[in-house]
Amino acid sequence: MWKREKSEMRKTYSRTKRINQNRKTMSEIDFECKKCGTCCRDLLEDFDGIRKGLILTANETNLFPSEMVSPKIAIGVKKPDKIIEYQLSVNVCPHLNERNECMIYYKRPLMCKAFPYESGTFSVKCEVFSHLKAGVPCNVAFSLTEIEASEKLNRYIMNRFRKYFKKGSKLWEFDLATKEWTVKASQNP
Ligand code: SF4
Ligand code: SF4
Repeated sequence: MWKREKSEMRKTYSRTKRINQNRKTMSEIDFECKKCGTCCRDLLEDFDGIRKGLILTANETNLFPSEMVSPKIAIGVKKPDKIIEYQLSVNVCPHLNERNECMIYYKRPLMCKAFPYESGTFSVKCEVFSHLKAGVPCNVAFSLTEIEASEKLNRYIMNRFRKYFKKGSKLWEFDLATKEWTVKASQNP
């Protein structure tokens, strides 16, 4: 399988574990959401030359109008065949109301539950952390809800990789800007 992706996932797991173990001894800052709604209004990002949206699992696609949902990552030999993740294709979530409340709060996607916790660190897209440098070690006291949602999403993605991977497969990513698939990684022989 794609060594780089696998190794990134492993690093994420071990980093999350290590940080959770260290949490007891670190000087922690409590995360308090300002309820500004910025994170639900700024969902698209351009990274590695590809436009990406809010990650969705297969079941979570039912929470949004079908025209706002696109595939994100797929596995296939000659073309994208099995979809691993989906994504919301719009920048502003249709479930955010004028009071900056999520209208589907109790069934919101795992990615939303986890935010701004991101596999052992925090997202600088959150207003609370926007003044900080991306990727610095996390000494923020997130709740179990955020950490567990992040871990659950990582497990979901890893399980889909394992289920659909076969010899000769490639990893494909769908670019929301061009509406085209690109090969993200090929299997090492
Ligand atoms: S589903 Fe809710 S939490 Fe997630 S982006 Fe939309 S409004 Fe925000
Ligand atoms: S950007 Fe951060 S502070 Fe603002 S609503 Fe989202 S999580 Fe809360």
